Amino acid sequence: MITNLNTGISETGDPLLLTPGPLTTSLSVKEAMLHDWGSRDTGFLRINEEVLDRLPEIVNGVGSFVTVPMQGSGTFAVEAMLTTFVPASGKCLLLINGAYGHRAKKILEIAKRAVVVYETAEDTPPDVAEVEAILAGDGDITHVFAVHCETTSGILNPIAEIGRVVARQGRHLLIDSMSAFGALPLDVAETSCDAIAASSNKCIEGVPGLGFVLCREDALAKTQGNATTLVLDLYDQWRAFVQNGQYRFTPPIHVIVSFHQALKEFFEEGGQPGRGARYWANADVLIEGMRGLGFKTLLPGELQAPIIVTFHMPDESWFQFQTFYDRLKDLGYVIYPGKLTVAETFRIGCIGRLDQGHMRDALAVIAAVTADMRASALARAE
Ligand SMILES: *Cc1c(COP(=O)(O)O)cnc(C)c1O
Repeated sequence: MITNLNTGISETGDPLLLTPGPLTTSLSVKEAMLHDWGSRDTGFLRINEEVLDRLPEIVNGVGSFVTVPMQGSGTFAVEAMLTTFVPASGKCLLLINGAYGHRAKKILEIAKRAVVVYETAEDTPPDVAEVEAILAGDGDITHVFAVHCETTSGILNPIAEIGRVVARQGRHLLIDSMSAFGALPLDVAETSCDAIAASSNKCIEGVPGLGFVLCREDALAKTQGNATTLVLDLYDQWRAFVQNGQYRFTPPIHVIVSFHQALKEFFEEGGQPGRGARYWANADVLIEGMRGLGFKTLLPGELQAPIIVTFHMPDESWFQFQTFYDRLKDLGYVIYPGKLTVAETFRIGCIGRLDQGHMRDALAVIAAVTADMRASALARAE
């Protein structure tokens, strides 16, 4: 029934991932993994050093920030950041408007750190005046944790404004910038913070397996002994690099070498402004096209980040999410279920090795699949 459409099947025979990461990577990023290296191989260590050296450029942190990599997914980096920077005597204000904020709270509770929560709905950013009032009223709060783009909904939180009030109140900001890093602007000269956590498999478009935390060097230097685990101790991991340029424990070598290739392609695209512009174009095409098909976005335009877009499930008898999902996947496009509490939704990502052409092709497939689903529902009703 559905013919003459460009399927999303890639050059390696895989469907395109319209998801928030892991995501579709370039062929050259995948090909970079076709070698073996020893973890002490000088060639590998040089590649690793280049990766660590270049990441602070993305947030204007050269000279003041160091990269501490952490084996594992992004959450390993977030847990390492929180447990290394917030000392046993500290207290952390968590700004929560989605699942990743809740995850940070769980991490700190397991680590037995004192927390205060300021939570807003999943479609509502924190009120910066309220953040300032909470800080002004509680002198015990040492740190503030914020999520840059809350991937749960795709909302863009006002990170620069949050940074300003945290600095004005003399506290320390820790940022989960996982799904925004490299795509959305973040300048540490303007947004004062102690650490930024991100990972290999989001907007830099590498494969999963490496988290990293960009740390203000003078703040990191004061964290010795804070960590609650051996593995996730950023201070210890950093000292090992300073001493011998090596990881304490086996690094995900293939991931790092392909991340090096992904970073090269990122800078060739114009760094954050270039990458961000492509994702904004993808998001604009997607949102306009989906609205044209009758779908409604959760967020108004001014709160929408160009990373992932949340759509309401149509509340109509022809629409069945699992069927929709399966049929899109068969035609080469993998979308993402919703994870909201405020509404029944699904999500479509704009990141990865995708451009406006891919988004238009995906929309043509979505149009065909929804038309077909409506027609079948009608035929069943007759
Ligand atoms: C992806 C993501 C993480 C990390 O998730 P992992 O599954 O551990 O990689 C953390 N925070 C945000 C905002 C994310 O989008």
